[in-house]
Amino acid sequence: MSTLEYTYLTLPNKFFELVKPAPLSKPEIALLNQKLMHELGINTSNSQELLKFLQLAEPNPNAQTFAQAYAGHQFGHFTMLGDGRAVMVGEWVQTEKNRYDIQLKGGGRTKYSRGGDGKATYKAMLREYLISEAMFHLNIASSRSLAVIKTGDTVQREQVFEGAVLPRVMKSHIRVGTFEFARQFCTLEEQQALLDYTIERLYPELKSTQNKALELLNTVMHAQIKLIANWMRVGFIHGVMNTDNMAISAETFDYGPCAFMNSYHPNTVFSSIDRDGRYAFRNQANIGKWNLTRLAEALLPMIHSEQSVAVEWAQETLAKYDRLWVNQYYGTMLLKLGIEDLSSELVTWVNELLSLMEKYTLDYTNTFLALSNPLFLAEPNMLQDDFVTWRNRWENYIESSVGMAHARTIMSKNNPAFIPRNHLVEEALDSMIAGDDSKFKTLMQVVENPYSYDPKNIAYSTPPLPEFDSRFKTYCGT
Ligand code: AMP
Ligand code: MG
Repeated sequence: MSTLEYTYLTLPNKFFELVKPAPLSKPEIALLNQKLMHELGINTSNSQELLKFLQLAEPNPNAQTFAQAYAGHQFGHFTMLGDGRAVMVGEWVQTEKNRYDIQLKGGGRTKYSRGGDGKATYKAMLREYLISEAMFHLNIASSRSLAVIKTGDTVQREQVFEGAVLPRVMKSHIRVGTFEFARQFCTLEEQQALLDYTIERLYPELKSTQNKALELLNTVMHAQIKLIANWMRVGFIHGVMNTDNMAISAETFDYGPCAFMNSYHPNTVFSSIDRDGRYAFRNQANIGKWNLTRLAEALLPMIHSEQSVAVEWAQETLAKYDRLWVNQYYGTMLLKLGIEDLSSELVTWVNELLSLMEKYTLDYTNTFLALSNPLFLAEPNMLQDDFVTWRNRWENYIESSVGMAHARTIMSKNNPAFIPRNHLVEEALDSMIAGDDSKFKTLMQVVENPYSYDPKNIAYSTPPLPEFDSRFKTYCGT
């Protein structure tokens, strides 16, 4: 098995702290993602070897594990941050082109931990494992989860919980906040080193461009727009889109207070600390733009040496965001209706459908599923007059254009039948913690095949009673 590399450590040493993962009392691999291990070509023959590979067994003098420095805007306020409970194990080179960070979430304290204990609870890591893998299988760029390893130690939160570590895999953990850190605390030369490294690592096609900083901004903007439209496609609410949680690689990551929406309401929020709905379902595109504006500010000195010129150029790039978003979002929503064209009339139909879904508190996933899959029974409110009028007009349009069979093929790829529904996730996690892994394993199988509807799995597509959602809260830092 090849060894891990550490190209990140070629950056100026302000960007990281060399640190070892905290030793674990009694490590036990609770979940192992065999398929991902295989895909990456990580061949460990037993648990001990895997723990050794992850630097969680005997110390390896050659390992240069580290924590990354970064800053970021949390709920709109700038703060110095850094990996407070994550330790980078190293970079895994799958192929010449595919290099992945392997990072231990819950890996122990670092110099960026502030008051935190560097730990993570078993429940939160099980949740991240399940949801990140579900996102991947929904065809949405995401960090992956390699395993959940119980530590044998406890974690003190509002109660005492079991602790765990989650090795997560990502193209890179460089964030908008990494560039904010560079702008705030580093010299121009050091900022340039981060830019060059990021481009080499994630977007090598930009190496020969005239203005690399501006091109990076433009590229990340396109990729983030695509990502957020994809979240909207499946009803995903990230929950904590602080700039330190927005990856330059445009992979979804930092699964803390995220959740999936059941009945459609654009203002849906589950995060216990998001009282003003800053990160509500409908606000995700706006926040994407806000975060990219922070990235632009961080890149300014590298866009042009004269600030006024740099600002003007950055603004020109960001000015494209709204139009790009509208095209990407409605293009995506129309695919959910089996339509590959985009026109202002079709856009109106999407908005009308969403208004009807809001009016009748229809389940987001199941409404599209009922439109796309004749096996799936419509909710009674889909038989209301105004809904039927909408549906007839849509059906007539499809019949007179591409035909229903073709539309259904498109819809089946864009409308999941199964999302990890909050109540089922909670149930699966609670029983896993109580020692019964059957619910977790079955739910995992269902969310690994989100697009193939199987009536025998109807329980997994049934939303909870509305009371569940009105009480359901998600948390950061668990
Ligand atoms: P998050 O909301 O998960 O993005 O976390 C924000 C910052 O707090 C990150 O820098 C984390 O590394 C840090 N953090 C979260 N939980 C802990 C913890 N238990 N101990 C130390 N640092 C933490
Ligand atoms: Mg974070």
